[in-house]
Amino acid sequence: MAKNPLHCSFCGRSRDEVKILIAGQEGHICENCVEHAREIIEQELTVKDDRSSSSFKLTVKKPIEIKKFLDEYAIGQDEAKKVLAVAVYNHYKRLQQKVSDLNTGNEVEIEKSNIIMVGETGTGKTLLAKSIARMLNVPFAIVDATVFTEAGYVGEDVESILTRLLQVCNYDVTSAERGIVYIDEIDKIARKGDNPSITRDVSGEGVQQGMLKLLEGTDVLVPPQGGRKHPEQKLIKINTQNILFICGGAFDGIDKIIARRVQTNTIGFNVDKELQDNMKKNLLSYVNATDLKTFGLIPELLGRLPVVTHLDPLDAVTLRAILTEPKNALIKQYSKLFELEGIELSIENDVLDFMVEKAMEFKLGARGLRSICEGILTDAMYELPSSNETQFVLDLEYAKRKFDKSKLSLLKVA
Ligand code: ADP
Repeated sequence: MAKNPLHCSFCGRSRDEVKILIAGQEGHICENCVEHAREIIEQELTVKDDRSSSSFKLTVKKPIEIKKFLDEYAIGQDEAKKVLAVAVYNHYKRLQQKVSDLNTGNEVEIEKSNIIMVGETGTGKTLLAKSIARMLNVPFAIVDATVFTEAGYVGEDVESILTRLLQVCNYDVTSAERGIVYIDEIDKIARKGDNPSITRDVSGEGVQQGMLKLLEGTDVLVPPQGGRKHPEQKLIKINTQNILFICGGAFDGIDKIIARRVQTNTIGFNVDKELQDNMKKNLLSYVNATDLKTFGLIPELLGRLPVVTHLDPLDAVTLRAILTEPKNALIKQYSKLFELEGIELSIENDVLDFMVEKAMEFKLGARGLRSICEGILTDAMYELPSSNETQFVLDLEYAKRKFDKSKLSLLKVA
């Protein structure tokens, strides 16, 4: 029996069930099907774009450019920046190679070089990772290693490291599979070897074991909402072969481990005294996988994190530069805040020196600079918006007075 001629030839809905029916030569299409078709076309085109190597070539910066980009946000840390720049660049090259190999049958496989960054807290590890993320067009997630525990204990499954990555790319598995993950506080899951405990080391070695399979590149079943996997939950399969992992940690006390190793190596040799002094000052720059193993990372994990780099402790000159030079330097941020209020903020140079001096004195590092600025400027930010002032000059006398009144100055006693 002939159906009413006025219906959508794709979904079969009748004229009354749709808003618009577009006529073609031998049929009709409704607005729902047009929309659906558009989605399919968009999806197909993105997949093709992603797969075509030329799209990577267009977007990836060369290592020197990546480093320059990082220089805009972070001061110093040249070695770490270079290592990161090369690793990220090679990551793109690997992705590109995968595509061209599909066409040519080439079998040389470039292995990925996951990275581990060692540096005191507040020296810019997360900042570097975040800055890289700004520049990339692959999904990037930051996770904290301390929230994971071995399967079966209270805490999150290691697989949920990948949940963050899935979330940042709206659960698009194909893009997640070529993303980058920054795992912070990796040192907190070190094996507590010298401390035999009757309770199991649930947050240490077990988690490292769990991470192995993520790092080596296999199919991993990921809980879409993170947390613990449970039987009713539908899991998403992700292949980690092309995901780059960057780990960071402070590794408190590793300098002693390095010193011990370096000293043992040099015993019996007629070592230049100056060289030794220099080594002592820059111990962290000698860090290698052996030291990380002594610290408590298992060899299998270290084998999957082949690139080890370090971040230098921040000295006064660097802290001073951090205050004013980066693209979103603290002082620039405060000036902006005042400017939005119609007030021109000028800070005298000796105030900046004073802030750095206090950050060094209280060992607050770069993170402390913010608290020091807050301590000094809070009253001004509280009072000035209700006044008619159009200028605020921050001089040393004012800065000292406000700092002494702030909670931070109490730290000195501690
Ligand atoms: P961590 O090494 O503990 O991950 P972060 O990267 O979180 O340290 O640094 C904390 C803050 O200190 C950053 O948000 C940034 O403002 C500042 N900072 C630290 N190191 C640098 C640096 N090298 N250059 C510029 N700012 C820095």
